[in-house]
Amino acid sequence: MPDPNGFLRYDRRLPARRPVPVRISDWREVYPPAGEELIREQATRCMDCGIPFCHDGCPLGNRIPDWNDLVRTGNWDAAVESLHATNNFPEFTGRLCPAPCEAACVLGIGGGQPVTIKQVEVEIADAAVARGGLRPRPVPAPTGRSVAVIGSGPAGLAAAQQLARAGHAVTVYERDDAIGGLLRYGIPDFKLEKQHIDRRLAQLAAEGVQFRTGVDVGVDVTAEQLRAEHDAVLLACGALQGRDTPETPGRQLRGVHQAMTHLVAANRAVAEAAAGRPGVAAGGAGRPAFAVLPDGTPIDAAGKHVVIIGGGDTAADCLGVAHRQGAAGVHQLDLYPEPPQTRDAARDPWPTWPWVLRTYPAHEEGGERVFAVAVQEFVDDGTGQVKGVRIAEVSVEKRDGRRIVTPLPGSERELPADLVLLAIGFEGTEQQPLLEQFGVRRNARGAVDARPDWQTDADGVFVAGDMHRGASLIVWAIAEGRAAAAAIHSYLGGVGELPAPVDPARQPLAAR
Ligand SMILES: Cc1cc2nc3c(=O)[nH]c(=O)nc-3n(C[C@H](O)[C@H](O)[C@H](O)COP(=O)(O)OP(=O)(O)OC[C@H]3O[C@@H](n4cnc5c(N)ncnc54)[C@H](O)[C@@H]3O)c2cc1C
Ligand code: SF4
Repeated sequence: MPDPNGFLRYDRRLPARRPVPVRISDWREVYPPAGEELIREQATRCMDCGIPFCHDGCPLGNRIPDWNDLVRTGNWDAAVESLHATNNFPEFTGRLCPAPCEAACVLGIGGGQPVTIKQVEVEIADAAVARGGLRPRPVPAPTGRSVAVIGSGPAGLAAAQQLARAGHAVTVYERDDAIGGLLRYGIPDFKLEKQHIDRRLAQLAAEGVQFRTGVDVGVDVTAEQLRAEHDAVLLACGALQGRDTPETPGRQLRGVHQAMTHLVAANRAVAEAAAGRPGVAAGGAGRPAFAVLPDGTPIDAAGKHVVIIGGGDTAADCLGVAHRQGAAGVHQLDLYPEPPQTRDAARDPWPTWPWVLRTYPAHEEGGERVFAVAVQEFVDDGTGQVKGVRIAEVSVEKRDGRRIVTPLPGSERELPADLVLLAIGFEGTEQQPLLEQFGVRRNARGAVDARPDWQTDADGVFVAGDMHRGASLIVWAIAEGRAAAAAIHSYLGGVGELPAPVDPARQPLAAR
């Protein structure tokens, strides 16, 4: 029986982050382990409220009160089991999820302090590694059916693991040189060190999943070839079409890049340095790894004035990277006004996800956030290189579903900029040969529609993750990967049912 008074005895507490000067001199994760005493105390704050809204907040339906109580009582092995019953990769979500479950925690009603669910989750995930590693599960006799999974992000990997554990032969095709999707080269090491991915991949491989990297499906191998080799196909290619701003004067200048161009180059440099490749200095106080584009063009923030345009995860990741690369100064621009510090219950009633100011660890590390401004021009230094960004204060309103941005007369000013990063969102999955070859189309949002059984317009071709949902979250990608795997298992005539935490129409909790 959980402790009904724990939340009265203990306040919400998170582990201290590593000090800023230390952490920006390396690429290691920001959070150190919390320690058993703190985490058991925090798990004690979960009172098992009877109707755990956190379950509905979490797309995976994680059994949060169950594992909180198992941690409270020090029953770590059972907690590991319980967590993995609903989540293939809690080491990813425990580190990276924005935790909609915490927004839905009963302790948060009326401005209270929710349980530190995400922190408990990551500690359980890490306990699994510490207590004997991520042991492969025994797989049943082969079914003789095979599945091609295209894309190796969290959606593809979750589906692959579920299908392999049901006895199907699974091959994951990835065009990059390493498996992991955005976890590998999109999200920086200071949020997710890559050993966590590698450990999990070893488990998947031991369970029979085959990986083929450097294969751009639709280019290196055709859809027809894959359909001939496999009984079903899952498309999990993400939503990687970056939004651009071609109409802004000066967009073509040198030094103005998509955020992902910068992040991928930076993450690759860190990976190269970690692998001890010749010619690449190791990260650290002496010299951070130097990021270059594939053609050798530097895209490193060292010594530069950086302007990041956008207010989300991607922008915050660029900010953290810029500081670790040694930027001279950083501005982060947001079109919208500064959100409130606390939930506006009239607008976003509990247990929905509130619009509040989100401050990431990267914001503690420096830089200036500028709200309610829009770029009017990228300014040329006379040689085709950007030297500044001219911005204006703006008001933003929605009219007939359209966003109207109105600059305030006389509010223009210029910020210095040697490197400008566009982190203004994604426009769905990329237009690429694979789509036409499989006979699937992008809808108006740039995503690929799924029928209720996760099949696309093409029979036997399923879709999951960002490619279906549009740019979203890791927790949704895992949930959709699990659900699509259940549908594929059933399509292949598999015995029994696999868990399907969401259906294709499922949306986050919202006030209707
Ligand atoms: C910079 C950044 C930071 C983020 N931070 C967070 C965060 O902190 N927390 C969070 O919850 N979410 C975060 N997200 C969102 C999260 O990463 C995504 O929602 C999630 O990775 C989607 O998973 P996916 O499997 O659908 O696709 P992806 O992870 O995008 O993987 C798709 C894969 O498909 C491959 N692919 C595409 N086409 C082909 C082809 N033709 N042949 C072979 N392979 C192909 C791609 O190379 C890619 O590896 C972030 C996103 C970005 C961009
Ligand atoms: S995956 Fe995300 S929403 Fe689900 S329990 Fe973990 S932190 Fe909460």
